Amino acid sequence: MKCLDERIIELYVLGDNEIIRRKRSIEAHLRHCQACREAAAAMSSFYADVESELRRDAELPAKALTRTVPNAVFARQPGPPTLYQ
Ligand SMILES: [Zn+2]
Repeated sequence: MKCLDERIIELYVLGDNEIIRRKRSIEAHLRHCQACREAAAAMSSFYADVESELRRDAELPAKALTRTVPNAVFARQPGPPTLYQ
């Protein structure tokens, strides 16, 4: 099965209305794809951080945030395990 687009994972994590119809197939994919599951988990914890940041700094423009967050999430993913051994 083709992997999920990071934008799709993002919308899924955010519970976006656009994604509601695809929710079942996304969840089916997440069940057997560790890479996408980890991406979704990283994104979801990142958004939890962002939300608590926003409570402290309500002036951060939402539009800039949606553009920069996906890259930031993937930049936070750990590299190949061999680098850390
Ligand atoms: Zn996948």
